[in-house]
Amino acid sequence: MQTVLYPGSFDPVTTGHMDIIRRVAGLFDRVIVGILHNAEKPSGAFSVTERIVLLEDATAGLPNVEIQAFSGLLVDAVESSGAQAVVRGLRSAADVEIELQMARLNRHIGGVETLLLAAQPQVVHVSASMVREVGRYGGDLRGLVPDEILTRVVEGLRPQT
Ligand code: ADP
Repeated sequence: MQTVLYPGSFDPVTTGHMDIIRRVAGLFDRVIVGILHNAEKPSGAFSVTERIVLLEDATAGLPNVEIQAFSGLLVDAVESSGAQAVVRGLRSAADVEIELQMARLNRHIGGVETLLLAAQPQVVHVSASMVREVGRYGGDLRGLVPDEILTRVVEGLRPQT
């Protein structure tokens, strides 16, 4: 069985992440979406538990996709999940720089291969950090996060008064 790990922070999952997840789910038997976090320094707009639930709901229609949380090194997450490779998305030249360095490092320290997928033009401008920024100021998040989770993301990012 061909298993790939798609790691990220997914704080929260966006339509850009979903595009990668859907495309990879069509290519491999099993896709593990891995929320990589630092167990000692919990941070983010959404807790890891909230991110898991949002991802589970957004991927409910994709039976070969599962959600797991990992802390520590990506190469260790690959080993413990039984994945054969890592998948990452590329939006821009800035992503290429970072992703090539990460891919080479993970191959060096753990023999892990990384598959890089080009973002589609419709979602190339979408990032979780922009979703958090737009949501914090009450902007329109339609099309930036999956419809199934839109209301919860809007609520979760709304400033507490
Ligand atoms: P973000 O970069 O949006 O804050 P993550 O750190 O969780 O999100 O990113 C996880 C992976 O998803 C990275 O490989 C990133 O390049 C990729 N990714 C994020 N947004 C998109 C998008 N709009 N299209 C394609 N890939 C994306």
